[in-house]
Amino acid sequence: MSMTIKRVISKHLESNSFIVSQAGEAIIIDAGVEEDEISKHLDGEKVVAVLLTHGHYDHAVYAQDYARAFGCKIYAAEGIKEYLADSDKNYSEGHFKVSNFSDFCFLNGDGKVKLGGFDVAYFSTPGHSKCGMSFLIGDTIFVGDLIFSQGTGRLDLYGGDKTQMVESLKKVQSLDFQILESGHGEPSTRAWQERNLKTFIRFLSR
Ligand SMILES: [Zn+2]
Repeated sequence: MSMTIKRVISKHLESNSFIVSQAGEAIIIDAGVEEDEISKHLDGEKVVAVLLTHGHYDHAVYAQDYARAFGCKIYAAEGIKEYLADSDKNYSEGHFKVSNFSDFCFLNGDGKVKLGGFDVAYFSTPGHSKCGMSFLIGDTIFVGDLIFSQGTGRLDLYGGDKTQMVESLKKVQSLDFQILESGHGEPSTRAWQERNLKTFIRFLSR
């Protein structure tokens, strides 16, 4: 069964959301795109889950709209609560805060979860935020703002940590992926990231 990935860019936040489709089902990763806009990119698939890579506003703001519209749960690291509950920590400047987490299923550490027909491996990858999580589906890893095609995510925001960033980059390096999708910008290949990860691990470890 072949899997397709659609990258949808938020017009006002410039963050990526992804629709991963297979056999009439879809998973949505990150939620910076309005629900009606994301719906336009669905092709009749049943959305079985929403995954969040971290709790910053530009990746999480519409997650509960998706959960309500599609009747599914939101999966994220448990540490995301602290970010979503506080508009200073999610950088929405007072616009966005979650007070009811009944739509959420929290994940901790590394593991695997079956969502509809999808096998999703999840990995705790803090560094850019305390609640960073990466998801491996098929041969594609979704890392949020941990690393991009041209650099790493910011370390100066609340909960950013250089030591954790290095550990998370090493974890990504050890995983069996072919394509890396980031929270902003274009995807990158395994070959590209071999060099990129090595460079940034060395740079941050000095
Ligand atoms: Zn971020």
